[in-house]
Amino acid sequence: MLILLSNDDGIDSQGILTLREAISPGNEVWVVAPESERTCIAHAITLHKPLRIKDLGDRLFSTNGTPADSVLLALRVVLPGKPDLVIAGINKGPNMGQDVSYSGTVAAAKEGAFMGIASLAVSLNGRSDFLFSDACLSVLDIVERMRSVELPPHTLLNVNIPNVPYGEIRGFMVTSLGKRIYNGNIIERIDPRGGAYYWIAGDGERFEAIEGSDLQAVDKGFLSLTPLHWDLTSYAAMSAYREIFPQEEGT
Ligand code: MN
Repeated sequence: MLILLSNDDGIDSQGILTLREAISPGNEVWVVAPESERTCIAHAITLHKPLRIKDLGDRLFSTNGTPADSVLLALRVVLPGKPDLVIAGINKGPNMGQDVSYSGTVAAAKEGAFMGIASLAVSLNGRSDFLFSDACLSVLDIVERMRSVELPPHTLLNVNIPNVPYGEIRGFMVTSLGKRIYNGNIIERIDPRGGAYYWIAGDGERFEAIEGSDLQAVDKGFLSLTPLHWDLTSYAAMSAYREIFPQEEGT
């Protein structure tokens, strides 16, 4: 398979480099990723400054753009053809619940899905001591299973892997997005010139107990797979809004 790897942790991140090595046997793997960390940049694209691509050799490229820029440049400029698979990650840290709105990792995979390519966002549920080699075994398993099936178009698979040895993962669970509970902490400090500055410090360690959600699955030791798509319409709310805003000519 022709596979594109990208991420939001930057080209030097152990997560992408370990995955590149693990997935290279039997596949043609290209890496196009931001030159430095762009975590939490979501799906930003760069419109007002020039984008550069640096060829580091051996199908490894860095860009001065965002994760979404990197995938766009990869698909339109760098790669020799349309890849069979886009993988973003392996991210150091989870992307579950509301995280997916902020995540550059998910955005990179979403860009792949927008272009009609099967795409995975892969994140490791830890804060430190990441077991990337173990996580790669899970990714290889997922890629092998996906090889033989036609995925629904314009969806991506958001994968969150428990940060434990491969053999200790309890199994797969196809999940829905959960909901984190943020403590809302914003820390105020005073700078050397006497002005206030602020640091967003909400931890989001707690989450709502939603059965079958990504947060609960990973908490129980399962590998979570959440299919995502980008129709954000709330179909359930449409009738309520139609009551408020009846569709009448001339109003
Ligand atoms: Mn990241």
